[in-house]
Amino acid sequence: MGSAQHRFIADCHLGRVAKYLRFMGYDTLFFPTIQDTELLRIAKDETRTVLTRDAALAQRKNVPVYLLDAVELHEQLHELAAHFGLEIGEDAHRRCLVCNAPLVRVCPAAIQKAVPEKVYKTFDTFRQCPECGRVYWNGDHYRNMILLLETALQNAIDSQQ
Ligand SMILES: [Zn+2]
Repeated sequence: MGSAQHRFIADCHLGRVAKYLRFMGYDTLFFPTIQDTELLRIAKDETRTVLTRDAALAQRKNVPVYLLDAVELHEQLHELAAHFGLEIGEDAHRRCLVCNAPLVRVCPAAIQKAVPEKVYKTFDTFRQCPECGRVYWNGDHYRNMILLLETALQNAIDSQQ
């Protein structure tokens, strides 16, 4: 299980990457607007690796920084998976994509009003974010994210060989 080992903080240009890392189960902070000094302070205090495409930021000492090469989302995930050995773990889809908070499994009856009726009838496992209240289930959005990740991560494995 690699997810417990890697903790990240993505810079403000890597919001989509952060979302996919959270989806995979990796504790990943992301703030749409944050000063570099604050980003580095949090990384240091919380022993997180900074992810960035900013070469100037990557030269800062005292904090582990990973400078991404890739520009496109698929390639960025591919690059990170190859570098850090990331994988879609058992705990995929257990973290809020928006807040990064670990999700809590909830009784379907408790969230019936929060999801479309069709969803409520189709799925029986629901998880909720304790911070923002968003409800998650393994529907189309989940499948699309899995498919994208499987493609990106498979390529990462291939390129290591
Ligand atoms: Zn949330």
